[in-house]
Amino acid sequence: MIELDIPVKTHDESRQGEALMLAQQPENKNGRKLYIESYGCAMNFSDSEIVASILLEKGFETTNDFKTADVIFINTCSIRENAEVRVRNRLKEFKVAKGKNPGMVVGVLGCMAERLKSKFLEEEKLVDVVVGPDAYRDLPNLIEQVDGGQRAVNVLLSREETYADINPVRLNSNGINAFVSIMRGCDNMCSFCVVPFTRGRERSRDAHSIIQECTDLFNQGYREVTLLGQNVDSYKWQAPPKPSPEGRALNEELTEDDQKVSPAGGDLEGATVNFAGLLEMVALIHPDLRVRFSTSHPKDITDEVLYTIAKYDNICNYIHLPVQSGNSRVLEMMNRTYTREWYIDRIDAIRRIIGDCAISTDVITGFCTETDEEHQDTVSMMDYVKYDFAYMFMYSERPGTLAAKRYADDIPEDVKKTRLQEIVAKQQQYSLVRLQAQIGKVQKVLIEGTSKKSDQDYCGRSDQNAMVVFPKDDRYKPGQYVNVLAERCTTATLMGRIVD
Ligand code: SAM
Ligand code: SF4
Repeated sequence: MIELDIPVKTHDESRQGEALMLAQQPENKNGRKLYIESYGCAMNFSDSEIVASILLEKGFETTNDFKTADVIFINTCSIRENAEVRVRNRLKEFKVAKGKNPGMVVGVLGCMAERLKSKFLEEEKLVDVVVGPDAYRDLPNLIEQVDGGQRAVNVLLSREETYADINPVRLNSNGINAFVSIMRGCDNMCSFCVVPFTRGRERSRDAHSIIQECTDLFNQGYREVTLLGQNVDSYKWQAPPKPSPEGRALNEELTEDDQKVSPAGGDLEGATVNFAGLLEMVALIHPDLRVRFSTSHPKDITDEVLYTIAKYDNICNYIHLPVQSGNSRVLEMMNRTYTREWYIDRIDAIRRIIGDCAISTDVITGFCTETDEEHQDTVSMMDYVKYDFAYMFMYSERPGTLAAKRYADDIPEDVKKTRLQEIVAKQQQYSLVRLQAQIGKVQKVLIEGTSKKSDQDYCGRSDQNAMVVFPKDDRYKPGQYVNVLAERCTTATLMGRIVD
């Protein structure tokens, strides 16, 4: 897998496997330390925050040194084979630590746990507990079982679980950007994809609880939320006929302090909330709260969503719209349920309705039976859209998927790789072109912190998700918006200076 060195939040390579730490201490310490690391997509990082929340409640502290931990959890990804190989190697390191401290509990969470289930316990003998993405509430019981000398598994998938009532604690937070899960699972059956098997059926989270969480984040000083789901455009939630008593109580508590804002969208009685409606409600919390979202699906993204983005300045002009392939026959084999023409129509609608909107994508090269000519359709799609950035992958057959059952993985590795290199080079060219087009323009940047390369500089992102670096100015601090004149760029970063 090759990923371009480009700034995005949905799958930040620099965060893969980093130790996730809580800023706060538990109220009733139980004397045990949790070490947790995450792999894969933003949804997994968001899930780790739910896990940490559940264990904080039980008195666990976090540590960034797994050798001194009492419980080690690794939140895993199954999307491509190399993601799983990485986890297995990591588990071997944990096994050495456990050899020195036999009381240690080692657990596998997330998609790989769901895919391999109890096979993990039998085959690997590396772990004590295996927990799927819908069973995190059971973690305290499962840890207790392991403490009692057993091994423990819960990989039950649920049609209802959304963890709506768990207010996640934030791990490794900068106090400015936060992920908020709005739905779980996926009902699409893209033939290459393991997600429907590891994360179960699609379900949308109660809109009140989403608005409440985003409002709380704003009141704590956060200035950007990213709404997460495998297919956010199919978000759909039916409000109960009357507001729940809890909803009313939360509203009342918040209005006590007039420095804080109250949740928008309080009166939804019986309404069906779709993604456009949810976006609007989140945008209305406060104009200084930036709203991002991921991932959009080309078959489901509606003009209504695009008009909502265009209507609110604080909904960022940035859409991640995975194309996977530019060829209609390959798309059909992938079971993506749209054609090249349909995808182009959606791109045209974005350009028409929103105008200047950054677009990023995911591409798979060397899917089963893909010819050179069909690959060229993907290349020409990149020429048509001129993506701001892209995640590009070689096809990796995943056991149990429709493609693995129906089609031979018949494109040789070197062909997959050559095609990948071609599109990576193409994307690098367009990333540069897109950033160069911003030079000379003023960007509204949310300051996220000090630049990794120089402590004299701040970094933050523009509305269109470009990373922007500029000299610090004592008048401004992280969490504030500044206007930055873009003066030069690399393929990944805009550089400039604050203008008043
Ligand atoms: N739900 C999102 C969507 O529909 O685009 C993406 C979910 S998936 C976690 C992220 C990306 O991984 C996909 O868009 C696809 O490009 C890539 N991917 C998924 N399965 C893959 C496979 N078997 N081999 C290579 N890449 C894969
Ligand atoms: Fe996988 Fe397709 Fe669902 Fe995305 S939409 S998670 S690629 S099945």
